[in-house]
This record gives sequence, structure tokens and C-alpha cells, in this order.
Amino acid sequence: MRINRAVRIGVGAIALALTAATAAACGGGDSKNALDNAKDGKLTIGIKFDQPGLGLRNKDGTYSGFDVEVAKYVAGKLGVKPDGITFKEAPSAQRETLIENGQVDYIAATYSISDKRKEKVDFAGPYYVAGQSLLVRADNTDITGPDSLKGKKVCSVKGSTPAGNIEKNFPDTQLQTNDTYSLCLEGLKGGSWDAVTTDDIILAGYAAQSAGSFKVVGKPFTTENYGIGLKKGDKELRDKVNDAIEAMIADGSWKKAFDETVGASGYQAPTPPTVNRY
Ligand code: GLU
Repeated sequence: MRINRAVRIGVGAIALALTAATAAACGGGDSKNALDNAKDGKLTIGIKFDQPGLGLRNKDGTYSGFDVEVAKYVAGKLGVKPDGITFKEAPSAQRETLIENGQVDYIAATYSISDKRKEKVDFAGPYYVAGQSLLVRADNTDITGPDSLKGKKVCSVKGSTPAGNIEKNFPDTQLQTNDTYSLCLEGLKGGSWDAVTTDDIILAGYAAQSAGSFKVVGKPFTTENYGIGLKKGDKELRDKVNDAIEAMIADGSWKKAFDETVGASGYQAPTPPTVNRY
């Protein structure tokens, strides 16, 4: 009897240890993949919470923006209704980790497809093409493009491609990085830095919201292909998300979503890109 109990306890302890080890290996995320979760009618999707027109958490707790609409459309094609979606904030520097750990099923958050990121995650898309640009105070006259940044204090976000580009290709610029673009904007307003740099479409949203305090200057000087980031190697999911993006473009939902979000402040919808099934 006693021995039996000891054996049972021993087996229980091993089972517990195994569960803990599995959880640790998955970084605490659940072990089901995105398509399993979709079959259960639930998806956790990473978006930005502070980018008006793209990914925004509104004061009433709802979410709006083009990325949110793309995320929802894709979810719909995977069989998940809007009320089955949990949106999770995906700051630029944390996106790969959130996907690798299974804390999100996919990310639609102004996420540029890059070779470096492809070492850790896969991308469906692109569903939009943006370009790096500059935001300055409305009364600024000396910053007109990336070549006028020498000695200037410029803010961007940790882990973003625009921050990497300034660091690498504009070494005379004093780059300051924060965790979010909202922090960059506060400093721009307060005079801590001279410009904020990231993609044109993001900056246009901030300029529109600033009631004339900020303006976007110069022409875009990089190409940022926005993709939907997902678990590396999940080809089935990537194919399905690519199908969904193509359908969204083909049935007019892409244009409608753009016009109702980013387009609401006068930004013209460009021609949608072609999905690249690498
Ligand atoms: N598209 C760029 C990137 O993925 C900048 C926007 C962002 O930080 O989300 O890094």
C-alpha cells in the first residue's frame, strides 16, 4: 500500500515535471498551433496599440485601423469570428519573440518582411508597401529628407527597420530609440528631438492626429513590405494567410478597409501589392 502510494506520487511528480518542461520549451505559450486554435474558434493576434489608422486601441477598449481590418479578414478566412479574436500589443522589438513563443498566432503590425527576421519567423504577404520617412514639428524648415539629418536628434523605435537603417546608413545622426512611437512623439512635441522616423503611413497617422503640430517631410527613402508574421515553418498557415490576403485584395475588401481607416484622413490608397509566396 505504502509502496504503491510512493510509486503513484513518483509518477505524478514525473508527469508534473514533464508538463513544466514542455511549457518552458514553448515559452509559456499554449502548445496548439495557430490553425488548431482557429479550429477552436479562437485566435490571438499581435497588432500595434498606438498607431492611428493602422493599429489602435481606442479609449473604449475597441481596436481600429487597417492592420486590424487585415487581421480580422484573415481570421474570418480561417473560420474565426471577430469575437473569437484576442488582440495583443506587439511592440516592434518583441514581435519575433511573441511568435516564436506561441504567445500570438500571427502578427499584423506594420511588420516589414526582412531577411533577418525571416531567420526567426515566416511572413505571408506583403499586403502593403510603405517607405521610411520623417516627421518634424510643423515650424521646422531645416529637415527636408534623410540627407539633412547630420547632427540632428532623431527618435525611432527599438527593433524597427527604420532605426536600423539610420544606425547603419546615417551615422552622423544622433539616434535615440524608445519602445514605442508614442514616446517618440512626446519627445518631438517637447523638443527633446528634432524628428521621428518610421514608415510614411505611420507618420501620416500621427500628423493627422496632431491638429497641425507635426508634418511629414521629404520622400520615402526605403521600401517596407508589410507582411503577416507567423511561426517559422508553418507552411499550411502561411499558404492560407496568403490566400486570404489575395482574396481581400480581389473582392474589394482591401480597398474598403484602407479607405475607412488610413484613407479617412485623406491618404490615397495605392495599388495593392502582389503576394510573394517564397
Ligand atoms: N515597418 C517597420 C518595421 O517593421 C517600422 C514600423 C514598426 O516599427 O512597426 O520595423
